[in-house]
Amino acid sequence: MLEKLQGVVIRTQDYKETHKIITIFSDKLGKISALARGAKKPKSRMAAATQPFIYAEYLVYVGKGSGLGTIQQASINHSMRQIREDIEKNAYASYVLELTDKIAEQKKPFPYIYNELYHTLKWIAERDEYVIPAMMYELKLYDIGGFAPVLNKCVSCGSTQLPYYFSVTQGGVLCNTCSSRDPHCVMLQGKLAQILHAFQQVSIEQIGNISLKDQNKDLFRMLLDAYYDSYGSYPIKTKRFIRQLNELTRE
Ligand SMILES: [Zn+2]
Repeated sequence: MLEKLQGVVIRTQDYKETHKIITIFSDKLGKISALARGAKKPKSRMAAATQPFIYAEYLVYVGKGSGLGTIQQASINHSMRQIREDIEKNAYASYVLELTDKIAEQKKPFPYIYNELYHTLKWIAERDEYVIPAMMYELKLYDIGGFAPVLNKCVSCGSTQLPYYFSVTQGGVLCNTCSSRDPHCVMLQGKLAQILHAFQQVSIEQIGNISLKDQNKDLFRMLLDAYYDSYGSYPIKTKRFIRQLNELTRE
């Protein structure tokens, strides 16, 4: 079956002398893998359109069941060149791609996540903030993995009385009374609970500008890392690279 798909390249693998197998997160079919013939030849028209981060329109012969498809044609809509040229943008965008690849099932469409993925990469490419867009995206992605944290009410008793305490083991926020259920829960001061909830709910497309103190970004990052380590099924390799990059740039 021939399909016209819009999609983002989330993974590539070399295949034999001249080919590549690429994984696209697409609008109509979600995550699919397809053979791109000749894509390893630098001068081939297919080479440019089959690199990570590329957002393009693909004409794909889709294989049956879990079978591999074949890319027939590709035309680039957004090259995300700025991501390729900046090591930090590249690190966070690679993290976004790897998480998507690990969490999304093959050939299952997730139109909302597809839209968020494209706009998250576009944001990272075109602006200077990349830590927050990556966090906003992953909070939404956890939902399709079936492990989204509950952030709008106490996960234990349903109370909406602030302050909230983030609990990895309980899978969301706890109220003051229920905070005794998890000795390791972390209090979310001030508006942090509402901000985290907004990150999960609001599309990045609707946001003009975002900023957060470094210490709060670090706190959210630490909580989300601990959260993913508890509920995610696969380790994320790009995370290690981000940690190393942060250690080096903070000296
Ligand atoms: Zn409670």
